[in-house]
Amino acid sequence: MLSSLPPPPQAQSAAPDPQELLRTVFGFTSFKGQQAEIIGHVNAGGDALVLMPTGGGKSLCYQIPALCRPGLAIVVSPLIALMQDQVEALRQRGVAAAAMNSTLSFSESMQVERQMRAGALNLVYVAPERLLSDGFLTLLEQCELALFAIDEAHCVSQWGHDFRPEYLQLSQLHDRFPMVPRIALTATADGPTRSDILERLGLSAGRVFIAGFDRPNIRYHVTPKKAPRNQLLAFLSEHKDESGIVYCLSRGKVEETAQWLSAQGYCALPYHAGLDKAVRARHQDRFLKEDGLVMVATIAFGMGIDKPDVRFVVHLDLPKSLEAYYQETGRAGRDGLPSDAWMLYGLQDVIKLRQLAENSAAPERQRRIERHKLDALLGFCETTRCRRCVLLDYFGETHAEACGNCDTCLQPVESFDGTVAAQQALSCVYRTGQRFGAGHVIDVLVGSDTERIRRLGHQRLSTFGVGQTIPREEWRSIFRQLVALGLLVVDIEGHGGLLLGPDCRDVLRGERRIELRRDETRRAAAASRKEKARKILDAPEDERLFHALRAGRAELARQQGVPPYVIFHDSTLTEMARLRPRDLRAFAALPGVGSAKLERYGGAFLAIIARAGEEPGEPA
Ligand code: ADP
Ligand code: ZN
Repeated sequence: MLSSLPPPPQAQSAAPDPQELLRTVFGFTSFKGQQAEIIGHVNAGGDALVLMPTGGGKSLCYQIPALCRPGLAIVVSPLIALMQDQVEALRQRGVAAAAMNSTLSFSESMQVERQMRAGALNLVYVAPERLLSDGFLTLLEQCELALFAIDEAHCVSQWGHDFRPEYLQLSQLHDRFPMVPRIALTATADGPTRSDILERLGLSAGRVFIAGFDRPNIRYHVTPKKAPRNQLLAFLSEHKDESGIVYCLSRGKVEETAQWLSAQGYCALPYHAGLDKAVRARHQDRFLKEDGLVMVATIAFGMGIDKPDVRFVVHLDLPKSLEAYYQETGRAGRDGLPSDAWMLYGLQDVIKLRQLAENSAAPERQRRIERHKLDALLGFCETTRCRRCVLLDYFGETHAEACGNCDTCLQPVESFDGTVAAQQALSCVYRTGQRFGAGHVIDVLVGSDTERIRRLGHQRLSTFGVGQTIPREEWRSIFRQLVALGLLVVDIEGHGGLLLGPDCRDVLRGERRIELRRDETRRAAAASRKEKARKILDAPEDERLFHALRAGRAELARQQGVPPYVIFHDSTLTEMARLRPRDLRAFAALPGVGSAKLERYGGAFLAIIARAGEEPGEPA
């Protein structure tokens, strides 16, 4: 396969110009964010740590220096699937790249080694354990090296959830190859993780490039859970033919939800750690290679999913923390096109997470941290402020104004003085003996005539029926917020009983005002229907052409056994549908079309565009 590719750029005499490579190889006209600065720094031989959100354009930060600097660039990557994707995407662009991992046969490995020695490759992706093997290090000593790129660099930190012990050994690289620049990259790095990376990789002398955490193209949406399946269907009906992930907490729920979605006519597959390895691999592969597939999954799915056109990430259950939420939702919209992060949460979720935090066997200090993290997550769910502001605040970044691209911005949430309601709820919990769940306490508040109430004599309590004017649904919302605020706490035994929290005295005495959010009203529901009209392409004929282009891309991808997005990203196809280039020159101007792809695919896509122009009723 490599023999058909043009010779590596370094075969030419002068060092290639980064801007020129950006245009001819990657098909982009200008660098994004700090890319140009980072590339300049690495080209000059400097070490760097790059913190950039997903979709920020990290890959180019080492791929362009790999093409500018003489010799071979070694890219350390923790996951085979991720490596293969990147290698394929580079080959499609005419770059000589290969992966070294356990999926290669002996003779394939030998071939890559030969090419490395011969200087025939620009980039080699390798897993850390392979890189650090004696054989491989010796091989590297026989090659001219351009740089080391350490992708997913947070794997070196024990603070993160993706800690990989092999990453610790990567500090050897500097000792062994002191003249070769290293660039470490990650999308996850809070303060402690960041200093961990610098220290453990011995990068303290390097430059740190930090881009903000914001993902402006992701629309955040958090909705109180009422009838989750209907809510999910309504959401998905706005996302027909799009790829997305639906996260659930348990394996059982993953299976049920995937089956149910399939019965509803969606192409949905389950993914969780309890499935056979081969099944998991097959499902992941289909998710990457097919358009419009819904992956229903536990958090076992996602690490290293580089699919750029994941259009939505749904949480049917609350994630563990805001960090987890940011990371999981971050898998949407890598390509920069509008995408949705949509989450449902309800009283039961809040109770479950509180219980988990209380019952945790961890030492007190750790539990305090966990409680703090949970408070932050619940605060995010219950906020009436802009969600993006709350999220970025949590990561220590200020977002000056409301974003206009989250549910609370799009349909401002009313808050109301809930002091009296809170007092009624708290005193009813107290009078019923602090041993019942929300359901029974609400029955007492609204004055229901249930068998249980009569048996316990709760109709004689002073709080019986005091909350009649408030509908049951609203009471559930109030209880959820009281648990989220810590004014009600969950019993340790795990029966779901509610107890008064330590801070409720002020409220009962009338010394503290409680401001509560009013969950979605009818007005808001109407607004949200209007809001859903958002489309990537406005004109229906452009949308039709986009689907035809996508079908063409799918066929080309199938013939080569590669994911469609390595041929063209959706962002290139949408521009193609909008601009309808008529010749190769115009086609070359599309974002993401470099010279290799122009030559390889220009004709096929121009033909699809021309056919669409001939269809009756279509504008010429
Ligand atoms: P990351 O690894 O940071 O998640 P990628 O390197 O995958 O991000 O890039 C994210 C998206 O941005 C890709 O679709 C990529 O093609 C696009 N991209 C990167 N750099 C540029 C640029 N300079 N101009 C336009 N698009 C870019
Ligand atoms: Zn907002």
